[in-house]
Amino acid sequence: MEILYRSTRSGAAPITASQAILKGLSDDGGLFVPEKIPTLDRSLADLSGMKYQDVAYEVMKLLLTDFTEEELRACIAGAYDSKFDTEEIVPVRKADGAYYLELFHGATIAFKDMALSILPHLMITAARKNKEDKEIVILTATSGDTGKAALAGFAGVPGTKIIVFYPKDGVSSIQERQMVTQEGDNTCVIGIRGNFDDAQTGVKQIFTDPEVRALLAEHGFQFSSANSINIGRLVPQIVYYVYAYTRLLAQGVIKEGDKINIVVPTGNFGNILAAYYAGLMGVPVEKYVCASNSNKVLFDFFTTGEYDRNREFILTSSPSMDILISSNLERLIYHICGNSWEKNAALMKELSEKGVYRITDDMKEALSRFAAGYATEEDTQDAIRALYEKEGYVIDPHTAVAASVYGKLRKEGLGAEPCVIASTASPFKFEKSVMKALGEDTSLSDLELADRLSAIAGVKVPAAVESLRSAKVRHTTVCGKSRDEMLAEVRKFLGI
Ligand SMILES: *Cc1c(COP(=O)(O)O)cnc(C)c1O
Repeated sequence: MEILYRSTRSGAAPITASQAILKGLSDDGGLFVPEKIPTLDRSLADLSGMKYQDVAYEVMKLLLTDFTEEELRACIAGAYDSKFDTEEIVPVRKADGAYYLELFHGATIAFKDMALSILPHLMITAARKNKEDKEIVILTATSGDTGKAALAGFAGVPGTKIIVFYPKDGVSSIQERQMVTQEGDNTCVIGIRGNFDDAQTGVKQIFTDPEVRALLAEHGFQFSSANSINIGRLVPQIVYYVYAYTRLLAQGVIKEGDKINIVVPTGNFGNILAAYYAGLMGVPVEKYVCASNSNKVLFDFFTTGEYDRNREFILTSSPSMDILISSNLERLIYHICGNSWEKNAALMKELSEKGVYRITDDMKEALSRFAAGYATEEDTQDAIRALYEKEGYVIDPHTAVAASVYGKLRKEGLGAEPCVIASTASPFKFEKSVMKALGEDTSLSDLELADRLSAIAGVKVPAAVESLRSAKVRHTTVCGKSRDEMLAEVRKFLGI
């Protein structure tokens, strides 16, 4: 069955998967969604005997239907290789009764690697398939983790350039250091004096501006996006939820057909949407639990039906979730209003004009499989400390938000189904907050802290942190948060 992709904001003709990956965002500002969600054509029991790369193929072939088997397998092999520090790619670790799906074993030690190590391969393959001769310019806003993972994925890839904007004072010091030391002549990293939403808004405006597009085309460039709005990121993320289920099956924790709960620490709503798609494809899920930090716009949305971004933006110890406009929620909205672009576009217009919209009762009903919770900064620290004291297992603050919400919801009636918690970053990436939660001395340098954490957790310092010891700073540009200032930097880097 061929799957085509439509915009969530217009009735424009659907396009192929490879075209959707190349474009990233639809010209009307909408996101691409599959016309139909296919169901798995292999049983979960069959998949439980396969390794990660083969499960990836079985899932991705159903959604990226214009890629040949050879192309898809080559993309998968190029992505999930020795860049990961374990052959399992995503180990499942049991702690305190939950199953932590460790999504941080890739090059930049956050879950973004799961999608961004394969996206460049998908994009280059898509360009070849569509006889695209323009150079691809990846324009990305990051709350910290996407940026580095995208840089690592695209650095040195022929036919591409990558420009990353990050909030200068809104990322952890390891995150910043990882980005500003990025090598590769085709990479550009710029701090903005603003927050992540400012960066994302600026990027979206530049990206969808017809005049800018024309200017790029004139010089042989075309934009694409590595943000989680790109379907080429979403599809690879579905894989690990299918994989998680099959590992629980293989370990005898569940029988085929048993339901699980999935808890996802959420920011831009990409990761949890992937879980939802995995469920629609056939993974038995009782509840998708959306876990927020103090920027709890999604918690409020799921509890009241009103999405309201008009509130104070709070910097937390889980910066990759410091987001007030969760882009990928738009896809869910589109689905629950009956795949109606008219209804969705009207709500998104309200969001951009007034910063708020309310869904109907029918739409709210369609969200019954979702549950939501949030963790304050104190809750987050408590969760890190409690799990460490109980199990000797150290988790990062994002994962701790999920662990805390899981604990709370269990008390409030969430079922006892086996629970998969998406563990989205290595504690080494956010070591300062982690060490603070553990009551350790945080006055040490980043690299001394890493050594100390290694001793406490009984885990080797990951290569991604180890390599920072000798890395040189290569990117020092900082600009204002306006679209014009950001565009000026884009033009400077491209020489146009
Ligand atoms: C990006 C990120 C998240 C949030 O994921 P979304 O897909 O944006 O909801 C959570 N944790 C970490 C460590 C991240 O990097």
